[in-house]
Amino acid sequence: MQPTFSLESPYGGPEAQSTADWFKGDLHIHTVFSDGLYEPHQIKDFYKAYAYQFLAFSDHPNGGTVYHFDVDDDDFVTIPAYEFAADPLRVHINCIGAAVGPEGIHPAGPDMQGAVDRVNKQGGFAFFCHPFVYDYPNPAYVLTGLSGLEIINTGAISYRAGQDDAVRRGTALDLWDELLTKGQRLWGFVNSDFHWFCNEEPCVAFNMVDAPSLRATDLLQSLNAGRFYASTGLRLREILVEETSITVECEQAACIRFIGAGGNTLKESCGHRATYGVQGDEIYVRVECTDERRAFTTKPQLDFFHQTAFLQPTFVIPTRSS
Ligand SMILES: [Zn+2]
Ligand SMILES: [Zn+2]
Repeated sequence: MQPTFSLESPYGGPEAQSTADWFKGDLHIHTVFSDGLYEPHQIKDFYKAYAYQFLAFSDHPNGGTVYHFDVDDDDFVTIPAYEFAADPLRVHINCIGAAVGPEGIHPAGPDMQGAVDRVNKQGGFAFFCHPFVYDYPNPAYVLTGLSGLEIINTGAISYRAGQDDAVRRGTALDLWDELLTKGQRLWGFVNSDFHWFCNEEPCVAFNMVDAPSLRATDLLQSLNAGRFYASTGLRLREILVEETSITVECEQAACIRFIGAGGNTLKESCGHRATYGVQGDEIYVRVECTDERRAFTTKPQLDFFHQTAFLQPTFVIPTRSS
């Protein structure tokens, strides 16, 4: 019998995708060019020691946007970026892959949609940063053209070490599920929002990207198409999206959870490999692979997450039955 739905997955199919050669990076980093404490080359050296292969130095553009291609080498690449601030709302949007315009800088201002449209037109993409760090009306409901949102901003949590709302301020998993349930197609990013070492644990957060090469243009295309997963520590081994099922293998995982509309758990499975048979009414299916150990960070606020790899959603599209 023909299924009454089809799956649209950023991971493609029908062959299994090995994730062994995917590229590791962080898309939210601040340097001395805005309110960070370190030079780009210092940050690069630190992240390279943790096997990062790309970074987006996303400084606030108040002093002028500067792109740091000079720190690139054969196995490390920077992606041009800046963190747009829609003042006075304090809405922050990371504009990734923005070409240098003739004006050089993109000043802060109220025009959020303009910022998103501009970077999309330039061949880049935009994601909504740390949705709950400040109290402002949530722009993810009104903006069009966003590629995703930060589902975890580990820096935002670390800054609030010891405060009751630390985790709430730095996470947006509920919002992600809410927007996906409404039919918005948004990818989930995990970034550090690195400013300085004493307040943050930079290597907790990363995104693993399936790209044909370690070139900024290839990374951008894959990220914008959702061909990556986000993580607070765990690495996947294999993703297989077939006609009516999704299989994930993660050697380090103790538990694999399939999540659908409303953030509801569709299936939870112990072990390193799990398959979910799609029913057709899920709207979307996303997967979290979690270690049973506490997160490796020493920050108690981050223990909450354990070490988790977050797959991007596969969309379940109803088709007419014949
Ligand atoms: Zn910000
Ligand atoms: Zn930031």
